[in-house]
Amino acid sequence: MQQIVWVVQYSTPPLALKYCKKCQKKTEHASSGRFRVNAQGKYLDIWLIYKCKNCRTTWNLPLYSRIKPESIDNRLLEQFYSNDVSLALQYAFSTWLLQTNGAEIVLPDYQILGPHPDSGTTVELQITSRYSLPVKVSQILREKLGLSSRELEKLITDGRIQNISLKGLKKCKLNQEITLYIDMSTPYK
Ligand SMILES: [Zn+2]
Repeated sequence: MQQIVWVVQYSTPPLALKYCKKCQKKTEHASSGRFRVNAQGKYLDIWLIYKCKNCRTTWNLPLYSRIKPESIDNRLLEQFYSNDVSLALQYAFSTWLLQTNGAEIVLPDYQILGPHPDSGTTVELQITSRYSLPVKVSQILREKLGLSSRELEKLITDGRIQNISLKGLKKCKLNQEITLYIDMSTPYK
C-alpha cells in the first residue's frame, strides 16, 4: 500500500463578510494581522483588527472582553502587544469566532501540496491542513485528481474510494484531517 499525504495550504485566512457602515452594504473584511489591547482600569479588552477591503474602515473582532489582566498569561499578553504573526493567524482562522460575532466566512484560495497516487496499488491518502476550514473534501479530490463530480461519485459507488460514503462525501468538510483509501489497481479515468 502506498501512503501519501496532501497538505491543503490556504493563501490567506478566510475573509469576514460583514456589514460596513461606510459602504452601507455587506463587504469583505480582511484581518490586518494586528491586535488592539485596551487596558482600562482593572480590565483588559483585546481585539483583532479587520479592515473593509473596499474602504479600509476597521472592524474590531472581540477576542477578550473585560478580563482581569492577571487571568491572562504574561507571554500571551506580550504576543498580543507585539502583534505576533502566528497568534494573529490562529485567531483569523477561527471561523467560529467570526461567526459568533456576526460575520459570514468567505473561504480563501488554496493549494494542495503532495504527490499524485501511483497506479497499480491501493493508496492510503491522508488530507490534512494546519488550520481548520470547512472546505469540501469532494472539491479537493476533484481538483487534485482532475475528476468531474460524476466521475468522483462513480469511484465511490464502485467502492474504489473507501472510508467515505456517497452521502458523506456531499457533506464532508476537511476541517483538519481525513484519511481515505483509493483503489488504484486500474486507471481511475
Ligand atoms: Zn467599507
